Amino acid sequence: MAQRILVVEDEPAIADNIVYALETEGFEVAWCATGEDARRSLDERGAELIVLDVGLPDCNGFDLCKQIRKTSAVPIIFLTARTDEIDRVVGLEIGGDDYVQKPFSPRELAARVRAVLRRCPSGGDTAAAARVDSPFTVDRQRMQIAYFGKPLDLSRYEYRILEVLIGRPGWVFSRDKLMELAWEEPQASMERTVDTHVKTLRAKLREVRPEADPIRTHRGLGYSLKESW
Ligand code: CA
Repeated sequence: MAQRILVVEDEPAIADNIVYALETEGFEVAWCATGEDARRSLDERGAELIVLDVGLPDCNGFDLCKQIRKTSAVPIIFLTARTDEIDRVVGLEIGGDDYVQKPFSPRELAARVRAVLRRCPSGGDTAAAARVDSPFTVDRQRMQIAYFGKPLDLSRYEYRILEVLIGRPGWVFSRDKLMELAWEEPQASMERTVDTHVKTLRAKLREVRPEADPIRTHRGLGYSLKESW
């Protein structure tokens, strides 16, 4: 089944080019011109990746990204016209995965989409994890993760934390960031909660491979997942 890309862009001429380029690459493409339509489309149909314009008629692409990040780690590529926005776009502050600066060639954008999808686990029925050599398999429909082929018995939050880490191997996520990405109501939890869940998660991974320990602690920073296997 084709991977579904949601394009959120209010200028029809630009959107047409993007849709054409991505469809040519074999993706299923949905186009929305406003943030509100994008939210609705995501709720109803989901997406494997979002191409998101920063300047939308009814909202700011950054705010939309932050809203989406409360419930989903779906990869997001920003379209931006301004150089001074780029630092914010790629920073963990916003939670974007990549950006393309306007004006851009549709082919360049399609290449970025492919690259980001390779790096992040796709949302398909049984998606292979980010890298070919990764021992994790994520099944988002069933909220299950297998490690070296063995399904892990995870709590909801352990699942979410591990899913976030698997999405970006090597990236360091602060406890704040993990809470923001993995919790529906981050303000209701404490940083310690992340530590507790990571601890139980590690114990479960150790049962499968005692020697592997793929989650690394970065003192004062947070956690990351081992990059190469
Ligand atoms: Ca715009």
